[in-house]
Amino acid sequence: MSMTIRADSQANELLQTVEALSGQRLAACYQCGTCAATCPFVAAMDLPPDRLIQQLRFGLPGVLERRAFWVCVGCDSCAERCPRAIAVPRVMEALRLIAIRERGDRLAVAQLPAATLRDLPPIALVASLRRNTG
Ligand code: SF4
Ligand code: SF4
Repeated sequence: MSMTIRADSQANELLQTVEALSGQRLAACYQCGTCAATCPFVAAMDLPPDRLIQQLRFGLPGVLERRAFWVCVGCDSCAERCPRAIAVPRVMEALRLIAIRERGDRLAVAQLPAATLRDLPPIALVASLRRNTG
């Protein structure tokens, strides 16, 4: 019982932190699925954006373990079509920030193979560092 209460409390805290960081109010989402239908990268996500938002709102566990918010490239296609004007990329960015704060950097440059560092365009490396490190 106490485990359930603690899990709920942590989940609510996650929702509050995501809303504070993103400036979005997720209760406004009415699950129309337009963001998922619009997203060019949804096939690579383990959960489409509408369902990720639903899991956040319902306080379901495992949100920070998802890959979806790492896959999001912030193209804004979903935000432009959302009928509730929810900036989904900001929600994804907030989840990345929280995940990095809690679990540390997702990318260790020192561990990248020399060949990868040599062949990677510098702009890709910089963009990757910005997304995956604190
Ligand atoms: S398009 Fe907007 S309202 Fe519709 S599911 Fe996505 S975030 Fe929610
Ligand atoms: S901003 Fe992210 S979630 Fe939205 S359409 Fe682009 S890749 Fe998909």
